[in-house]
Amino acid sequence: MLRRTDLRGRVPSAAELRATLPRAEVDVDAVLHQVRPVVEAVRATGVTAALEYTERFDGVRPAAIRVPVAKLGESLAALDPAVRDALEESIRRATLVHADQRRVDKTTQVVPGGTVTERWVPVGRVGLYVPGGLAVYPSSVIMNVVPAQQAGVESLVVCSPPQAEFGGLPHPAILAACELLGVTEVWAVGGAQAIALAAYGGTDTDGAELTPVDLITGPGNVYVTAAKRLLRGLVGIDSEAGPTEIAVLADETADPVHVAADLISQAEHDTLAASVLVTTSVALAEAVDAELGRQVAATKHTERIRIALGGPQSGCVLVSTVDDGLRVVDAYAAEHLEIQTVDAAAVAARVRNAGAIFVGAYAPVSLGDYCAGSNHVLPTGGCARHSSGLSVQTFLRGIHVIDYSEAALREVAAQVVALADAEDLPAHGQAVTARFGGAS
Ligand code: NAD
Repeated sequence: MLRRTDLRGRVPSAAELRATLPRAEVDVDAVLHQVRPVVEAVRATGVTAALEYTERFDGVRPAAIRVPVAKLGESLAALDPAVRDALEESIRRATLVHADQRRVDKTTQVVPGGTVTERWVPVGRVGLYVPGGLAVYPSSVIMNVVPAQQAGVESLVVCSPPQAEFGGLPHPAILAACELLGVTEVWAVGGAQAIALAAYGGTDTDGAELTPVDLITGPGNVYVTAAKRLLRGLVGIDSEAGPTEIAVLADETADPVHVAADLISQAEHDTLAASVLVTTSVALAEAVDAELGRQVAATKHTERIRIALGGPQSGCVLVSTVDDGLRVVDAYAAEHLEIQTVDAAAVAARVRNAGAIFVGAYAPVSLGDYCAGSNHVLPTGGCARHSSGLSVQTFLRGIHVIDYSEAALREVAAQVVALADAEDLPAHGQAVTARFGGAS
């Protein structure tokens, strides 16, 4: 049974809600001291250190970090045709959605002869991390690579942990997904050592250069996250992705079988995963509890799911009205939010904070994990209040291009000088007046 919080008749402020709602605590700071030496060693000796940590943490030592290109094609050829078909459909849908996210350069004429253009330029080289510790995620290859490719990134490398059972290569399904997407550079390295190697680069055991990247994206465990935090600045990173979360806002019209199945589907990821039901209906809450009892016992990862659903990060919040429910889910800012109410689309349109919103009875989160076309790398831990999931925008920079004629500069010269003087930076003003025969 989900632990209940009863907010009927008294929904606290957003700040109080954030402090009281169930949420997983992942202490990235607590592992920084473990990760810092890994990052330092990779900075100092590159591949040598990366291979040593790989041996220690992954229990395998690949001959080289870079995966031979031939292995990608071989992995695809050996892939189960049904999985290949599913990956292709997922790529097709993700490409449709992400192609529509491409930005168009825009020029604004500020005055005659004076323009500012916002020019969208892709990041030069990116490192895309695909986790491979507890589970393997070929779908995460798609969710990282498709937006990068649609943004026009010219050079990208996929990093994923080597697997002892596959001779020190990343999982074959990951290699096959790379082949389907035309990715040719894959490194067999995971954890903090992967993030450090991508940031600093190195020379592989066979003498090949591993060129440092400008930006690193992709989900990972706490060590991956800590390394990204340490290297932020030297490289760009996407948001820090913590354990996955689902919130379901439901009224009495929701089907408890569906709601329970969706709560379980996220709990399946991780013992720290959060499944939160926010509902106006005590009858639904009780029916969902009964369904959880039935469905959890019948699923594969029963123990992991029981721990996640029973943990302090999961629960059921009772509210009086859907409006109150909206206040709760906005304060929670879930990575994934399902709306299972009357007029679900209208309710969804009022949500302000969520990584992704799934509308109505036929849009479960697992559709978005694989085949909706949307991206599944989303902000967790309440970061949806200020951040978005991975998209084409993640891989672009908007560069302002300022182009003014002599007449256009002359027209605004006095204002520039006035503001420069007001800030006690007279040389700023002189840089303008010098062009018109003024003092320099
Ligand atoms: P991972 O690839 O992130 O981590 C595995 C690596 O961690 C290994 O290569 C190993 O080198 C390193 N490691 C293991 N133990 C270590 C230790 N004691 N010290 C230092 N390094 C160590 O894979 P994972 O562990 O399965 O974690 C993946 C995470 O990503 C999960 O939390 C999952 O929920 C999350 N995920 C999120 C999304 C999303 O879109 N938000 C998608 C997929 C996965």
